[in-house]
Amino acid sequence: MGWKTLDDFDLGGKRVLTRIDINVPVEDGRVTDATRIERIVPTVQHIVAQGGKAILMAHFGRPKGEVKPELSLKQLVPALEAAFGKSVAFADGQYGAAVEAMNDSDILLIENVRFAPGEEQNDPDFAARLASLGDIYCNDAFSAAHRAHASTEAIARLLPSCAGRLMAEELGALEKALGTPDRPVVAVVGGAKVSTKLDLLGNLVTKVDTLVIGGGMANTFLAAQGINVGKSLCEHDLADTAREIMDKATKAGCDILLPADIVVAREFKAGAASEVVVATACPDDAMILDAGPQSVARIEGALKAAKTLVWNGPLGAFEIAPFDAATNAAAQAAAKLSRDGALVSVAGGGDTVAALNQAGAADDFTYISTAGGAFLEWMEGKTLPGVAALVG
Ligand code: ADP
Ligand code: MG
Repeated sequence: MGWKTLDDFDLGGKRVLTRIDINVPVEDGRVTDATRIERIVPTVQHIVAQGGKAILMAHFGRPKGEVKPELSLKQLVPALEAAFGKSVAFADGQYGAAVEAMNDSDILLIENVRFAPGEEQNDPDFAARLASLGDIYCNDAFSAAHRAHASTEAIARLLPSCAGRLMAEELGALEKALGTPDRPVVAVVGGAKVSTKLDLLGNLVTKVDTLVIGGGMANTFLAAQGINVGKSLCEHDLADTAREIMDKATKAGCDILLPADIVVAREFKAGAASEVVVATACPDDAMILDAGPQSVARIEGALKAAKTLVWNGPLGAFEIAPFDAATNAAAQAAAKLSRDGALVSVAGGGDTVAALNQAGAADDFTYISTAGGAFLEWMEGKTLPGVAALVG
């Protein structure tokens, strides 16, 4: 696909400078979700097993080019050691000497790259200083690839470069879902607002056969067709935009599936009284908080007919029952089809991943991206600088 992988290099004795994403949540010095750390284990273990020297670089938080002790990567060393099953040296300066001191198969973590102003500026001098620490550059941080920074972009032009295991896996899954997918392709896009997903919708209507629109953003599309949405979350000022997206879809031969029936309530809280009505019958004093059972049946029908699914955004206000029902049902239907080998399913987005986990569906999806912004930009059809730099 244009980029090299770790398998293209003989790593023995080599200094493999590896960009990882370990920007994990930490509370009271404890890592509360180690998913990102677990996902880079295959790359690090491969380098170590081949006798390479794994020099890890990463960002943590937003220090904005200044040294902020509370954002030191040193606090993650125990979590990394637990994940790798091996000791990890740490250097907060004198990187050259620290690398010099490494033996083959050792692991070294260097300090938060964003402590240096040159990182976010994609500064060639800073990139050259980093590059001097390695013989090979490996980028395993797909989730940071949408940013052109010194450790993700400029550096890839200075050393022989490759994609790490996670990066290669992520790119492979995305390529299978939207690059050269088996058709028909269904996209499910939900979430709160159209305004945050304009580029996504605009790109998907030209790529997929059916676009299911759910969540709060569906209200904007309903309203754009003159349907009363009561007190629902709705971006009335985007009515023209919604109509443009629908026109674009028609021209591209993409079917748009909007909710046929809706779950409405007067209050947004657990156990609030709710009812199912047709999509055109939202009471003036009510909010649309989920798609109804008929809508779910239509989504399930579209999934059954499809070979590929891409999903971003929950179909309703899934954080509060019973408004998680449509998201759960559609997620479980997609999970079953995936388990049966009938569907390639790829999903991503912070709330989406949480919703699919809550539905017990995540494990059966073909691929779940934890990349957030980079996943969305890829879905929007944008070129990711960190990926483009690997291709050369
Ligand atoms: P992701 O993080 O996966 O990209 P978003 O952030 O776009 O997803 O959307 C998730 C949010 O959308 C959730 O907080 C959910 O409660 C909200 N949401 C979904 N449907 C509705 C609705 N009908 N009304 C209000 N909020 C909604
Ligand atoms: Mg979100």
